[in-house]
Amino acid sequence: MSFNLAIMLQESVTAAPSAPMLYMGDATITYREVDDRSRRVATALRDRGLQPGDKVAVQVPNVPEFVYAYFGILRAGLTMVPLNPLFTAREMAYHLDDSDTRLLITSVFSLAGAVEGAAEAGVSDVVVVPLGTELPDGSVAFDSLLDAPPFDDLHPTSADDTAVLLYTSGTTGRPKGAELTHYQLYMNCTVAPELFGMSASDVSIGVLPLFHVFGLSSVLNATTRWGASVALLPRFDATAVIDEIERRRATVFAGVPTMYVALAEADATGRDLSTLRAAVSGGASIPGEVIKAVEAKFTGLVVLEGYGLSETASTTTFNVSATERKVLSIGKPVWGVEMKVIDDEGNALSAGTDNVGQLLVRGHNIMKGYYKRPDATADALRNGWLHTGDLGYRDDEGYYFVVDRLKDMIVRGGYNVYPREIEEVLYSHPDVVEAAVIGTPDDRLGEEVVAYVAVRDGADLSEADVITFAKEQLAAYKYPRSVVFVAELPKGATGKILKRELRTS
Ligand code: AMP
Repeated sequence: MSFNLAIMLQESVTAAPSAPMLYMGDATITYREVDDRSRRVATALRDRGLQPGDKVAVQVPNVPEFVYAYFGILRAGLTMVPLNPLFTAREMAYHLDDSDTRLLITSVFSLAGAVEGAAEAGVSDVVVVPLGTELPDGSVAFDSLLDAPPFDDLHPTSADDTAVLLYTSGTTGRPKGAELTHYQLYMNCTVAPELFGMSASDVSIGVLPLFHVFGLSSVLNATTRWGASVALLPRFDATAVIDEIERRRATVFAGVPTMYVALAEADATGRDLSTLRAAVSGGASIPGEVIKAVEAKFTGLVVLEGYGLSETASTTTFNVSATERKVLSIGKPVWGVEMKVIDDEGNALSAGTDNVGQLLVRGHNIMKGYYKRPDATADALRNGWLHTGDLGYRDDEGYYFVVDRLKDMIVRGGYNVYPREIEEVLYSHPDVVEAAVIGTPDDRLGEEVVAYVAVRDGADLSEADVITFAKEQLAAYKYPRSVVFVAELPKGATGKILKRELRTS
C-alpha cells in the first residue's frame, strides 16, 4: 500500500487553506503557506541529489523552519532524523554517522558543534536557519531552499517505510535510532488526539521540543492532522507560556511534569486563561499533588496523563477526560493498542496492585526496529511485544499504573523500593518544589534511598524535617535516609528529570 504521512498536511490544506497553522511571535502562518514552503524544500532537497529513503537530519529549535523542513522531507519520500540543538560536536558526529545522514539542516544556535560534527561524520551538505541573525560567509541559508519550485507530488512511500528516525537511549546503552513508519505516526496522531476531541478550532501550545516524540507526534502531528493551530515557543518559560495561552486563546497544552510544577508556581493573577480546556501530561509520572495544584490554579482545566515512548511514536495509554480518568494512572491503551504486564519469567500477570511487572505493548504504534541494531531490536521486540523497561500494574477496570522504570527501582536490603512512591510523598510537602529519589550503593543493604529536593524560596527545611515527614507516611524500609538539597534538579531537553546525572554527581 502506498502511503505518505504528509497526507495529513495535504488533507488539512485542502479543507481550509487559509486557516492558521503556526503562530510564531507576532506572525501567523497559514496552512497554505506551510504547504507551499514545504513543497519548495522537497524540490530543493531532491535537486541536491537526495533520493527517497535518504536521511536528512534536522537540528532546529521550535521555529517554523522546522515544520517546513519536516513536511518537505516527508513529501519527497526522505527520512527525517530530528536532533537536539544542544548536541556537542562529538554527539553530532555520532548521530550523523550512525544514521547515515546525507544532509544536515541546523541553525545558528547550534552552528559550531554542528559544523565540526558534520565534518567528522563526512556530511558535507549543511543548510543553516539564521534565526533572525546574519549567517557566516559561505553558509547555505535555509531560505535559499525556498527559491525552488513547489514539488507537485507526494512521494508514494509504503506505509511501512521509515518516516522518522528518532534517537533514544531506550532502556539501555548508546542512543539508537527508533524507526518510526509513516503508518505508525499517522495512526498515533489520529487515535490519541481524537480521544479528547481535537478539532480545527483547537490551538495548542508547542513548547515541547519538536525533535522529541512527544512534541513531534502529540503536538505537531496532532494539530496538523486535525487542522488545528500550534503556537511555537522555542524554550520553556512558565510566564511566556501563560502569555501565549492568553494571547492565542490556546485550548490545549501538552507538557512534561516539571513544566506543570513551574506553571503551578507561576503568577497568573488577572490572566484570562479560560480558553484552556485540556492539559496533557506525559514523559514521566506526574505527582498527584502537582495535578491538584494546577487544576486549583487554572479553573476548569483538567490534566490528562498519558504514557508513551519514542518507540511507540508517542501515545500508548491516555486518560480521556475529567470523568474518564484516574489520577496517578497513565490511563487505558488507546484504540488498536494492547498492553500486558509480565513477571520476570515472562508470565502474564492478572490485575491487581500487587501484580507489578514489566509493561509490554503491541499494536499499530510500535516502531519497526532500531536502525542497524538487529540485536537491540530482537531484545526490545520479543514475540511481537515491545518490552518497555517500565514497571507497572493494571487495575480491574483496565487502567494502567507505572510504578517506576525497571532500572530506577531500588533494592534495599532485599526489598523493592519504587522511587516514585517516595517522590509522591515528598511532593505533598508544602515547601517542596521538586523531588527525585535514587538508590546509592550501600555495603550492608545493597542500596540506600537518597532524596534530592528543591525547596520553595525562603523555606526553612532541614534534612531531619524531610526524613521525618517521609517516615511518617512510608514503611520503614522505604523512607529516604539522607537528603541532598539542590537549587533545581537536572533536566533533559524535554524537561524530564535526569536521574542518571544525580547518580554520577
Ligand atoms: P522517551 O522515549 O524519551 O519518550 O521516554 C520514554 C519513557 O518515559 C518511558 O519508558 C517511561 O519510563 C517514561 N514515561 C513516559 N510517560 C510516562 C508516564 N506518564 N508515567 C511514567 N513514566 C512515563
